[in-house]
Amino acid sequence: MVDFSERSDLYIINTCAVTAESERKSAQMIRRAVKMGGRVAVIGCYSQLDPDIGGIDGVSFIGGSKDKTAVFREAEKILGTEKKSLSINSDLNGYGYEEMSIGTEKTAVFSSCRAFIKIQDGCNGRCSYCIIPKTRGTVRSRPLVDIMSEAERLAEMGYKEIVLTGIETSAYDFAPLSALVRMLNGVNGIERLRFGSLSPNNITKDFLDAARESSVFMPHMHLSLQSGSDRILRLMRRPYNKKQMCEKIQNIYDTLPKTFISADIIVGFPTESEEDFAQTMSVVSDYKLSHIHSFPFSPRPGTDAAVMEGRLLVQKVRLRNERLIKHSHEVKQRIFEQKKGTKAVVLIETVENNICTGHTEDFLEIKFNSMSRAVGDIVTVNIISYDNRFLIAEE
Ligand code: SF4
Repeated sequence: MVDFSERSDLYIINTCAVTAESERKSAQMIRRAVKMGGRVAVIGCYSQLDPDIGGIDGVSFIGGSKDKTAVFREAEKILGTEKKSLSINSDLNGYGYEEMSIGTEKTAVFSSCRAFIKIQDGCNGRCSYCIIPKTRGTVRSRPLVDIMSEAERLAEMGYKEIVLTGIETSAYDFAPLSALVRMLNGVNGIERLRFGSLSPNNITKDFLDAARESSVFMPHMHLSLQSGSDRILRLMRRPYNKKQMCEKIQNIYDTLPKTFISADIIVGFPTESEEDFAQTMSVVSDYKLSHIHSFPFSPRPGTDAAVMEGRLLVQKVRLRNERLIKHSHEVKQRIFEQKKGTKAVVLIETVENNICTGHTEDFLEIKFNSMSRAVGDIVTVNIISYDNRFLIAEE
């Protein structure tokens, strides 16, 4: 492995196509690799969707979303030929969970104390704006026993926190999500457990009970809400309405009162009115959502939403997005103000110039000064103030 700026014999570009912007960046990266002069192999969702990869020349191997590791088996061949070869699999359905393992590092590592375990791939949903089912196929879930051994391996390597992720994490169907929570509660060394994005309709009583009984499940959930308007949720074909979504959020607060909830929201979906947008804004403040990942609507060719009437002007979408970010920031600052004077337990993720940063149990960013602490330490601190992004604490 060499740095991207050094010439390599073989460049492997693992592309993304979830938004128009990620597709554009993938194409840009392919062009950059081609210019560097070595052989170039392209894999992932962009090439799965468009095996011609926008007509870019100079690529030696194009693979799709399935069997990405073929690129390693084919490496010798790719290096020895100028000829372009194609290995797109048109059938993304009906096969089992496929692990993409490279060497011994099976898991994406976020820092030296937090690691992701991918528990499923694909999605059976049919949200009108989403291209993922076309690029990733139907749901395949990783067996419990594999997840357990991966968690034990990570714990042995010194990881303290595990985040369970997937393309649509809550679609995991090898066992109920509650079984995962109960199973991972018993892994020696793992002190924090979180999930990636969850769909509100999958927040069951059984899941919440398992979370409440667990000593490692952290009091934070990230939900893919997308909108607070019934009309827009229907157009998006999300599998819940506003009432159901709010009930689920309330169930979380009733069962796990200390939990903070953050959310994904799409802004400027076709026909979204000021009134629809106002409903989304009020969900953010009424339910005190601690953080919002807002996505300006991005029309993906091949989806129903891309050809819907009532597309909003780009400028209007941008302004609404800015309003949502500002609103969510104000809600977060109110949460920060309430946190002042309380204690927090922090897993230290970085230390630089004696400044430690990490996340609280409820997933707020926090920093404090320390001469003696190291990455991976879990410490209790006093929150004394805050800035735009961080809670500020002292030991
Ligand atoms: S559930 Fe998520 S991944 Fe599946 S179609 Fe909807 S947005 Fe896409």
